Amino acid sequence: MSAFERALHHRLEQQKSAGRYRRRRSQRDASVHTRINDRGMLTFCSNDYLGLATHPHVVEALCDGARQYGAGGGASHLVNGHQEIHDGLETQLAQWTGRERALLFGSGYQANLGVISALMSRGGHVVHDRLNHASLLDGTRLSGARLHRFAHGDLSGAAQALAGLSPDADRLLVSDAVFSMDGDCADVATLARLAERFDTPLMIDDAHGLGVLGANGAGTLEAQNVAADRVPILVGTLGKALGTQGAFVAGSHALIESLIQFARPFVYTTSLSPALAAATLAALDIVQTEPERRAHLHHLIQRFRRELLTLALPDITLMPSETPIQPLLIGSEQAAMALSKRLYEDGILCTAIRPPTVPPGQSRLRVTLSAAHTEADLDRLLDTLERCCRAVTS
Ligand SMILES: *Cc1c(COP(=O)(O)O)cnc(C)c1O
Repeated sequence: MSAFERALHHRLEQQKSAGRYRRRRSQRDASVHTRINDRGMLTFCSNDYLGLATHPHVVEALCDGARQYGAGGGASHLVNGHQEIHDGLETQLAQWTGRERALLFGSGYQANLGVISALMSRGGHVVHDRLNHASLLDGTRLSGARLHRFAHGDLSGAAQALAGLSPDADRLLVSDAVFSMDGDCADVATLARLAERFDTPLMIDDAHGLGVLGANGAGTLEAQNVAADRVPILVGTLGKALGTQGAFVAGSHALIESLIQFARPFVYTTSLSPALAAATLAALDIVQTEPERRAHLHHLIQRFRRELLTLALPDITLMPSETPIQPLLIGSEQAAMALSKRLYEDGILCTAIRPPTVPPGQSRLRVTLSAAHTEADLDRLLDTLERCCRAVTS
């Protein structure tokens, strides 16, 4: 074995002995009623909150889009990978979020790297909520700007961090709108007030709010009644409630033009598949015209919370959240893994989230609900959780 291979094996063994080795599981399709190893499985961990990944209209639009425009874009947006269907989707996304323009990216990860690295550089300062998504941290690292973190939700901590910065330095205040591992929401109006007070642009990543929150599904800003112009930089993803893949940044004409010039994760990558753009337009239409999907989802969320609390499961805390992300805080990695494994044996897939994704001692079962779940699916989750919890803790 070469020294290189030996080093790889050594590192993998360390990961295994730390109990942190991760494996993928192949499921048949993206539906909540799927199959794994040819066994029926009910899933409660997907981000496909409205069930659009397998919706017949979205799938048909994808097939039709591929026939009309091609499966792939063929080049980057600035060479000749940019098609009319991309313009159409960008226009709709801008309108939906109430902004002048929107710009498509290959993924939310790339969008966050792209925005922060385009806007910030060495000598700049980026102020983060401690629980911000990894891609926002990585974007800051890539930019070379200094990273400042305030305790989760501690807006006086945020004010302190901003007050400590030189007024001449480039600054950016960044937060998730819905925190992906906790399910709670940032107080966007207060963040906007702070940003205004310290004359700092505010960037909000609403990956988990768009499609789900607000009367029109336009996300956390709509739900919290925050005007679009108070959040100059909005990032949204297409792979969660919209059920497809990719992401977008929405904002002013000058912001979008700056990203087209300076965001390397936009410039140096193949354009989003035009077929996916067509599918996303179909998904966006459903999001805007079928509010009953959101109503059903919010009904399931409330039912889950109410009935889980009456079960009074031992050693489990339901975290405060009004979004489809409903984490059950367990604490130890081993206990969270054991519960996830018991559920799996009973045909329910809900993955345990553990360090380094969450801090040590805060391992959890991250339950996510979807409009594709039925009342009977929720009954089954609650029954199975009760049975498995008592078995694991007895
Ligand atoms: C999922 C997620 C991303 C990454 O989006 P992808 O399109 O999956 O790369 C970015 N930010 C937040 C808050 C997310 O939850």
